[in-house]
Amino acid sequence: MKLIFLGPPGAGKGTLADLAVQERKLPHISTGDLFRAAVKDGTELGLKVKGILASGGLVPDDLTIALVRERLAAPDAKAGWILDGFPRTIPQAEALEAFAPADKVVNFEVDDAVVVARLSTRRVCRACGKIYNTRTMPPKKEGACDACGGEVYTRDDDKEASIRTRLENYRKQTAPLIAWYEAKGKLLTIDGVGEPKLVLTRFDAALGSASGRA
Ligand code: ADP
Repeated sequence: MKLIFLGPPGAGKGTLADLAVQERKLPHISTGDLFRAAVKDGTELGLKVKGILASGGLVPDDLTIALVRERLAAPDAKAGWILDGFPRTIPQAEALEAFAPADKVVNFEVDDAVVVARLSTRRVCRACGKIYNTRTMPPKKEGACDACGGEVYTRDDDKEASIRTRLENYRKQTAPLIAWYEAKGKLLTIDGVGEPKLVLTRFDAALGSASGRA
């Protein structure tokens, strides 16, 4: 199954993808995680995108499309995947449709107020990318990842000014994808507000009914 997770920053796409891949054994491919890894490793790509990520802007389409195309060509992505954070623009969606069309697109509906509250309390493991929230899902030991012991930190772009830029970009560049995928008959919309486990139940139900297993 080839799935895209669509929704504003802070909609819970990464958290839900982590849960969903445990039951479905698909790779969770997050362009944000791939870019952050490139920055951390100091690769050529990382140097190009570091400032863009910190400001909350979007990486140019050609770089992003090339990265995803390469990642989806890896052997573990043959049978299916969950794409989280891609596509974010119409040209990205058009490119993906041409080289690896998704079966379904899951659109997470979440109010702006919820998004801002979640992003300002989000923390991430610098080593493995596991997502935490100081209010609702703190790590057991402050500052350390439950899964790998890595440093749990606040992303540079989870600061107020960048959050605003990311929400504006989402509205202008990414939200038009909702109608785009709806017109292709691929869109499933789920309520993204609530505990991750509850959102997972909604996700399973939406996919179940979409494939006629309701
Ligand atoms: P979030 O969904 O919380 O905003 P991500 O981890 O998905 O964050 O992405 C972090 C950053 O990586 C984005 O703000 C952007 O700079 C860059 N990025 C990720 N995916 C894309 C994409 N598809 N196109 C352009 N830039 C991207």
